[in-house]
Amino acid sequence: MFERIWLSSPTMHNEEQAFINEAFDTNWVAPLGENVDKFEQEMASYVGAKYAVALTAGTAALHLAVKLAGVKTGDKVFCSDLTFSATVNPISYEGGTQVFIESERESWNMDPRALERAFEKYPGCRCVIAANLYGTPAKLDDIAAVCAAHNAVFIEDAAESLGASYQGRMTGTFGKYNALSFNGNKIITTSGGGMLLSDEEDAVKKARFWSTQSREPFPWYEHKELGYNYRMSNIVAGIGRGQLLHLNEHIREKERIYRTYEKGLEGLPVAMNPYLSDSRPNFWLSCMTINSESSITPEQIRLALAAKNIESRPIWKPMHLQPVFADRDYISVGDPVGEDLFARGLCLPSDIKMSEEQQAHVIAIIRRMF
Ligand SMILES: *Cc1c(COP(=O)(O)O)cnc(C)c1O
Repeated sequence: MFERIWLSSPTMHNEEQAFINEAFDTNWVAPLGENVDKFEQEMASYVGAKYAVALTAGTAALHLAVKLAGVKTGDKVFCSDLTFSATVNPISYEGGTQVFIESERESWNMDPRALERAFEKYPGCRCVIAANLYGTPAKLDDIAAVCAAHNAVFIEDAAESLGASYQGRMTGTFGKYNALSFNGNKIITTSGGGMLLSDEEDAVKKARFWSTQSREPFPWYEHKELGYNYRMSNIVAGIGRGQLLHLNEHIREKERIYRTYEKGLEGLPVAMNPYLSDSRPNFWLSCMTINSESSITPEQIRLALAAKNIESRPIWKPMHLQPVFADRDYISVGDPVGEDLFARGLCLPSDIKMSEEQQAHVIAIIRRMF
């Protein structure tokens, strides 16, 4: 059997261990300490955000963002339809109701025209969450402009797009509140973790407060508000500091993988996941779609790769097709983009430890299918 080729697995270096050892040596084995403070500062400075709060997960960051946006029971929140469920679940944690917004075809992300249409139908909506899928920036200025015109808070889910930029500005800075993830398969990882980014000092203070059980400043434990245990540990933050030193290198490797597929699949009835010309993706996952006239399905390719111990994965199944959200509204401009990409798309192995020979092997298997 061939050695397994992964979709995207952790790539560790040496600095991670050094930062963890420091935490052990100083006995800061807790959800506070120098690694947490430094990881926040170093990430905020990398992305160009004023403040950062290190948390246990990207989902926790999105949850606190939804709370900060003031979403209450019964409120509608417009959100990406083609995304991971973690983008949209936190809306329900606060009693809100998702309204799914269809994607456009140029970046696979939220279509600003569908967003505008959603505001026509629900003018009272005050919160929008858009993700940058597979590391590819959405039409972020258009989305932010539509939100501003309707007085709605924009939350950017940059969980997959750390290091990607749009018109020269890093993703994770376009929303009033922004979320990052350091889950095991992301472009950098802390095994599990996330971060909330914002330029609003008061909001960030509030997020810190909520994430540490909403403890009032009393000698005893006094609580006026519901709290959460969402703070990142100092050990985990040490992994993050080491990883951040290698983020740019990871992005270069991810792009090399994307370019190799682009070239290697040339001549086949397939296309790579597209991106906007004024954006720079981080190329987290390389994906392809099979042209509709071809009789080959992504599932056939997935199974052929799996038979050789190679991991690939379907494109996200749109949220409006998920049983758990069957009763939610979904707004499009008439083109079912997400459904179409789900039917024709496949995420290809994009692990930066994959060798050139291994990637050539993946490409050869795909080529043989056509
Ligand atoms: C990974 C991911 C998240 C959630 O991050 P976790 O750290 O796993 O909680 C949110 N949104 C998107 C689009 C993601 O891919």
